[in-house]
Amino acid sequence: MKPEFNLSTPVQFLKSVGPARTRALTRLGIETIGHLLEHFPHRYHDRSQVVPLGKLKADREVTVAGEVLTASERRLRRGGSLQTVTVGDNTGIVFCVWFNQRYVLKQFRPGLKVMLSGRPARRAGRWQLAHPDFELLSGPDAEGAKGEQNLNLNTGRLVPVYGLTSGVGQHWLRSLVWQALEKLEAAGTRAIVDPLPRALRSERGLKPLGQALRDIHFPATERDRVAARKSLVYRELFAIQLLMAMRRAHRLRQPGLTLARPGDLTRRLVEALPFALTGAQRRVLKEILADLRSGVTMNRLLQGDVGSGKTLVAFLAALFVIEQGYQAVLLAPTEVLARQHGQTLQDLAGPLDVTCEVLTGSTVSAERRAILAGVMAGEVDLLVGTHAVIQEDVRIPRLALAVVDEQHRFGVRQRWRSARSGEDVGQSHVLVMSATPIPRSLSLTLYGDLDLSLIDELPPGRQPIVTRVTEENGEDGVWEYCRRQMNAGQQVYVIHPVIEETEGQDLKAAVTEFERLSSTVFPEHRIGLLHGKLHGKEKQATMGAFARGELDLLVATTVVEVGLDVPNATEMVIHNPERFGLAQLHQLRGRVGRGRHASTCWLICPADLPPETRERIHFFADHLDGFDLAEEDLRRRGPGDAWGVRQHGVPGFHLANPLTDTHLLGLCQADARAFLARDPDLTTTEGRALAEGLSTAFEKAFPGGGGPG
Ligand code: ADP
Ligand code: MG
Repeated sequence: MKPEFNLSTPVQFLKSVGPARTRALTRLGIETIGHLLEHFPHRYHDRSQVVPLGKLKADREVTVAGEVLTASERRLRRGGSLQTVTVGDNTGIVFCVWFNQRYVLKQFRPGLKVMLSGRPARRAGRWQLAHPDFELLSGPDAEGAKGEQNLNLNTGRLVPVYGLTSGVGQHWLRSLVWQALEKLEAAGTRAIVDPLPRALRSERGLKPLGQALRDIHFPATERDRVAARKSLVYRELFAIQLLMAMRRAHRLRQPGLTLARPGDLTRRLVEALPFALTGAQRRVLKEILADLRSGVTMNRLLQGDVGSGKTLVAFLAALFVIEQGYQAVLLAPTEVLARQHGQTLQDLAGPLDVTCEVLTGSTVSAERRAILAGVMAGEVDLLVGTHAVIQEDVRIPRLALAVVDEQHRFGVRQRWRSARSGEDVGQSHVLVMSATPIPRSLSLTLYGDLDLSLIDELPPGRQPIVTRVTEENGEDGVWEYCRRQMNAGQQVYVIHPVIEETEGQDLKAAVTEFERLSSTVFPEHRIGLLHGKLHGKEKQATMGAFARGELDLLVATTVVEVGLDVPNATEMVIHNPERFGLAQLHQLRGRVGRGRHASTCWLICPADLPPETRERIHFFADHLDGFDLAEEDLRRRGPGDAWGVRQHGVPGFHLANPLTDTHLLGLCQADARAFLARDPDLTTTEGRALAEGLSTAFEKAFPGGGGPG
């Protein structure tokens, strides 16, 4: 039987929690004792060192202890009242002052022992503490409030600092948390069931859950706090990793198509290429082909910075399945990109006698029907399209490989599942490509159920892109430089942000810029305009012309953000870069620097940027590596905003910090996989305890069915 007081007991059960406070606590997400104890301090005051009053120094917060000598009050001429309490120890005296806090006089009776924390200042030759935090250590009040012990929650120790809301004060919350911890302790060991297996706990040096909860709120020492935090972070991450490991284990039990017959298409293509594959490309291709041969369904994430040559790897994998009589699809996030991939792949596929078709929202219906019939009949080997088009009614009878060029658009993970629809094939293989590097901790979390391949090398001969920040008055210089480049045969992108809410105006800015550039700045050059409101055909025509070098300059919105590959373009001019995130800027900049020529990215900023924004822009200018930028993005915006963690339905990090707890995350992944290997269905005693104990974590993490699969 569960003790009456446990983690699921409602907070109303605690003393001093009435209806108003219950409502206030609900605003903090606190309804049960468990919630209350998961409301972790976001920092601590270190008030563990008590300083003698004779040793005060100005400006750093100190904690002092002593006896109340006097307590008095006077009215101020400008209104209000001032309370003064003097406290002394055997080395000196300090004057404590409050403004309009009449209750102070009732509490500070002369003779009481008190402890105070505050910032000392020298006033009229005396030490003064203004509005110190305090704790009464003896006397009727202290005992009345907290029982027999000399309890000190607010000074003289590491003091927790909580997030608050109106109606919930710091002191009150501290005593409430304390009360909950005391009651749990009184209820005995079964009040807190630790779901983590004992062996794992001791192997990783983790405290039992009850101890960890006590120490995270009221640590006796900094060491205890660190150990408690590690213990709780481990549990948090282990829950996620166990779920991911279950999904992965579930997948590994699905038989996949075994594609073992070796052919020579892949080799023939590689030999025909005008360049050699990079070492990284060869390595990841090997990993992918090993999956395809293994007889187990592949679910692999292919990560690589912009321009690292992911498309080619995907195509080689597709050829491998095609030459064994199967079909492949490649899904792109935008129409423009689907068209481009289609073009590239058709160029590569033609000489190999492989049929590749492109299907997008602007494919006319007669053509669409013809393509789908070809797919159905198995005449089309490779189908390229946008997510939106592929999923509806498309049947790909011999589908063996789906490649999702997800780029950095998250939230689409679930959708490709429906792309598989063949009846006569087993589970088809899935390769997800991500263009934006994801910090390792996040990819372990978001994609913990996938296997990871990393292209960590750019093709040789690329010159680093130079990034220059300039203000609007420096524009003429930028145009002058671009003119020289265009005259030398290079091409230029000019980007205007279009943010949806204000699309009308923003779009006008892009159109106006197009008119201004074509009529006054570069009347002698060929200029195109590309934005999302154009029809598919117009987009294709403009993109095609730019790719073939028939346009010198392309004014565009962020439709060019992802994937476009025009190696002859060397200049990227970005207006209002402050309106883009780092990942987006990185994508945009990745459109240049794809050939052998030196490239420049120009950022044209308004003059009056806030310092923090300016700093972000300069950080971007100074860093070319996608992983560096990704980590910075994470640092600045947190995992929820920067990485669409929420769209994924994966819990935000609670106590864990995705930047600093990466090591622990790696351990958790290994431990979770190892545990499942021994107990795949969580049926042992320990497994059942885990399943039950973590099920609340799962519910929060994956609302609406968090089971494997
Ligand atoms: P990603 O999709 O990873 O951003 P792409 O697949 O678009 O990159 O490749 C970028 C460019 O590099 C393309 O023009 C491609 O043809 C070229 N490329 C790919 N692999 C190599 C290689 N090994 N050597 C030289 N160029 C390459
Ligand atoms: Mg790409």
